[in-house]
Amino acid sequence: MRPLSTAGLLHVWERGQAQRPFDRAETLLAAGLPDQSPETVAGLSIGQLDAALFTLREQSMGGWLRAYAACPACKAELTFTLRTQDLRNSAAADAPAGTGRVSRDGISVTYRLPSSRDFEELPPTLDVPAIRARLARRCVTEALRDGRPIDAGELPPELIDEISEAMARQDPQAEILINLSCPECDHHWSDFFDIGSFFWMEIAVMAKRLLADVDALARRYGWREADILAMTPWRRHTYLQLGER
Ligand SMILES: [Zn+2]
Repeated sequence: MRPLSTAGLLHVWERGQAQRPFDRAETLLAAGLPDQSPETVAGLSIGQLDAALFTLREQSMGGWLRAYAACPACKAELTFTLRTQDLRNSAAADAPAGTGRVSRDGISVTYRLPSSRDFEELPPTLDVPAIRARLARRCVTEALRDGRPIDAGELPPELIDEISEAMARQDPQAEILINLSCPECDHHWSDFFDIGSFFWMEIAVMAKRLLADVDALARRYGWREADILAMTPWRRHTYLQLGER
């Protein structure tokens, strides 16, 4: 994994503007893994993709995250820090197997774990149970009733639930829950943490900050964007401070 450079960060931000969240995660990873083919990155399971995003975040900006949330009870705005080390699910350290098998009532099903591609092609209006069911059916690679092949569309809902649960157990990194408590009203709640959207928001903030620096230095000294971006952050900041004297 290669840490994001200043130019790489801007490139990812620019490409990601018009992309959907899963494509953004892939664009990010492609910047960190330039030697991997786009097909390889697109084929990673969600847990593998998130684990790789955590690594890229750690190598590019370190292992501490500064996060925000609004209390659902009193609407107070909370700021807190999280450690990537705590968020990474320890179970994901063992590379998950790409496929699995479940059997029930004479039907035996082989499936693969969903990748970001599978999520991308879901209609945007579905709720969580519908998404899980759609994914489970989509990822069935073989379904046999008493040894004879049947269509994934014919699988009973209980079996679909079982496949979803087995997928979640096998790819635990795919869902990360954080426990939060409000210092104002003592309300406790849990929320999903998604490294892909978190990292993207950070990149958007940093990209705008960088472009503001380029703007200020180019106006003041007439330097080219490429030359300003090639400077270390310390040198850029020092020039900016000198100009404010
Ligand atoms: Zn509260």
